Amino acid sequence: MKILAGTETLQTDPNFSAVVRDKSGQPIELCYQCQKCATGCPVSHHMDYHPNQILRMISFGLKDRVLTSSAIWLCSACETCGVRCPNGIRISEVMDALRVMSTANNLSRAKHTESFHRIFLQEVRARGRVHEAKLMAKYKLKSGQFFTDLDLGLQMFKKGKLPLIPRGIKNKKEVRDIFTRSEISREGGK
Ligand code: SF4
Ligand code: SF4
Repeated sequence: MKILAGTETLQTDPNFSAVVRDKSGQPIELCYQCQKCATGCPVSHHMDYHPNQILRMISFGLKDRVLTSSAIWLCSACETCGVRCPNGIRISEVMDALRVMSTANNLSRAKHTESFHRIFLQEVRARGRVHEAKLMAKYKLKSGQFFTDLDLGLQMFKKGKLPLIPRGIKNKKEVRDIFTRSEISREGGK
């Protein structure tokens, strides 16, 4: 279906809202746009659409616009919105589902953010925790953004936030098992 929005014609998918609800397990139809989620979100000012706007666009079936947004990749899953929402909607779960759908449909335009996300998860899976210096080195190599944030990196290094020697955790296998279980569940197993 197509709808007119100002001078723009937007393609809509009438099933999108139901699919997101199923995949996220969240009662997104209960959202009444109070915006408590957006006012508490620590990264909403960097997002192209605020969390409540993402929910509104889902209910309108604006699949492409939602799945190409930067907001779904910038959500840090801090759960602030879920705690504040009067209807108990956990937007971090919704964002998770949207990231999976965006990747599956090859619609992500936030390639650098997606790339950072993937490297972060690879590191956690392999070591049980992130080695910040290695994470940044891998990300720089992958993105080609060698000279951005150098000042910030130096400040973090001086404050001991980028240790050179990696630290591991005791129960790496348990962390790997979590990844394996989530992959099996995503593929439709138990
Ligand atoms: S806090 Fe909940 S009800 Fe309010 S806009 Fe956000 S998601 Fe919707
Ligand atoms: S979970 Fe995501 S959308 Fe919700 S407040 Fe945190 S960063 Fe914002």
